[in-house]
Amino acid sequence: MEQQVCQKFCKSYKPGKTERKKCGSYEFLRANLTKMELKRASDAAPAKPDLSSDDTISRMVCSECGFLDEHCKYRQGIDPTPCGGYSIVSHLLKNSNSNA
Ligand code: SF4
Repeated sequence: MEQQVCQKFCKSYKPGKTERKKCGSYEFLRANLTKMELKRASDAAPAKPDLSSDDTISRMVCSECGFLDEHCKYRQGIDPTPCGGYSIVSHLLKNSNSNA
């Protein structure tokens, strides 16, 4: 899972460094997707995250993230790029909205 989420999408990912705490998007994907669903989503998600569902992701995912208060430079407005799992969550939301 780390390979499909962090290694593929997170620019902060450092090979060999195992973070004990994962970001909210990683935990959200782990809790809601099967391994096969995650693989399909990871394969299909674009490298550049779609920010059009940002309010929804903020409420559903970031609000539960342990990095929100101190470490997330995206939510602090310092970095324009969110964490790696965000790309997959935004891809899934975009697809679910277009299928509705
Ligand atoms: S964008 Fe920031 S606050 Fe939201 S899940 Fe990712 S690391 Fe956490």
